[in-house]
Amino acid sequence: MNSKPASQSDASDRWCACIVGAGPAGALLAQRLAQSGHRVLLVDKAAFPRPKVCGGCLGGIALGALREAGVEKGYAAQPLTTVSLRGPRAEVKLGLANRQAICRAEFDTALAQSAARTGAEVRTGVRARLNPVQGAFRQVTLEDAHGLATTVRARLVVIAAGLGTSALLPPAERPTIKRRLDSRLGVGATLHDHADSYPPGELTMVSSDEGHGYAGVVRLPDGRLDIAAALSTAAAAELGIVEAVARILRRARAPLPEGLATATWRTAPRLTQRPERLGAERALLLGDAAGYVEPFTGEGIGWALRSAIELAPLAEEAIETWQPDIVERWQRRHRRAVGRQQQRCRMVCNLMGGRSVTPWVLRAITAAPWLAAPVVRSIDPTPATPSVPYVLHR
Ligand SMILES: Cc1cc2nc3c(=O)[nH]c(=O)nc-3n(C[C@H](O)[C@H](O)[C@H](O)COP(=O)(O)OP(=O)(O)OC[C@H]3O[C@@H](n4cnc5c(N)ncnc54)[C@H](O)[C@@H]3O)c2cc1C
Repeated sequence: MNSKPASQSDASDRWCACIVGAGPAGALLAQRLAQSGHRVLLVDKAAFPRPKVCGGCLGGIALGALREAGVEKGYAAQPLTTVSLRGPRAEVKLGLANRQAICRAEFDTALAQSAARTGAEVRTGVRARLNPVQGAFRQVTLEDAHGLATTVRARLVVIAAGLGTSALLPPAERPTIKRRLDSRLGVGATLHDHADSYPPGELTMVSSDEGHGYAGVVRLPDGRLDIAAALSTAAAAELGIVEAVARILRRARAPLPEGLATATWRTAPRLTQRPERLGAERALLLGDAAGYVEPFTGEGIGWALRSAIELAPLAEEAIETWQPDIVERWQRRHRRAVGRQQQRCRMVCNLMGGRSVTPWVLRAITAAPWLAAPVVRSIDPTPATPSVPYVLHR
């Protein structure tokens, strides 16, 4: 990757765009803007490849956006053909189309490398903080791992730094954050489990009947197992992460993977949250930073990529001339591009992740597979999805 530490940068650096966060949203936007000839700086506080709490699944929206952006290659992918929905007293297997399992560390590195190849400068191991606007530039302080700070100036700064990162704006410009009070916590680990209980090509989603949340398990292309879960804050606090995840799996009689207790578990902030405003002067929010709902349907990467594609033309306009209505225009465009899908995802989360409704939903799907259409469509809302899902196993 074309990366260099913050200490080597010139304090008077001027950029068309500085993008904070080299996850899928930031990397793809950096690539689009660099391709149009803009001078783009993409920074990330982590050293790449870096782990990420994620179910590791790409759905139709993500695959479509990757195709459109010409970045389908450069990372290994395992096609997924089945989703197994498990609850305490039922298991239903449904056919899936147009979905892949990927390793996030490798996938995100490939996207950042692709941005660097198109001309964006990528600096990793650099934490960014936004300062107020001065003239036609927003200033950004970059701090490396040794605490060495430099300042760059950009005509547009895009915050694509993940959940809750509108807080990178100066205090007076921070939007109010709307959080669901019962919002769950994201946790995840990658395990060296070599048993054949979770076969390649199958995504297993397990819901708790005790209101503890749900977990997704998938075999990655390199044979490791990815587990990601959305846990109620009460379960995480009372049982601890490992026991809460183990309990969800055990009650649904799903196999307990090897290494569950010894794995390195990572956490994500409260999942369902949305800033009331998607930016401030010369600063726009993108990807999870612009709002996220729980990941039952696993489309966060797709939303991040799709919204990067949607933001690109507006970002070019903002680089050229900042107009005060750009934040509102971005907000409307964002709502059209991903807002409706996020609402549908929230409904599925309520249905499948709810305490009492899950066993009922699974039994109903077993009896009448067409009832699963909204669930599968939400998991995979693309034309390749069978309109009436087929039950492979009950
Ligand atoms: C439990 C769980 C399971 C999930 N499962 C799936 C799934 O299966 N499929 C799916 O599509 N989505 C899934 N998601 C959602 C998905 O992970 C996110 O929606 C997606 O990563 C959002 O991408 P992003 O580019 O907005 O942010 P991120 O991928 O979070 O990237 C943000 C980047 O910003 C960097 N950063 C943060 N602060 C700073 C700073 N101050 N300065 C510089 N850099 C900074 C971080 O290091 C990070 O690299 C899941 C999420 C969770 C929590």
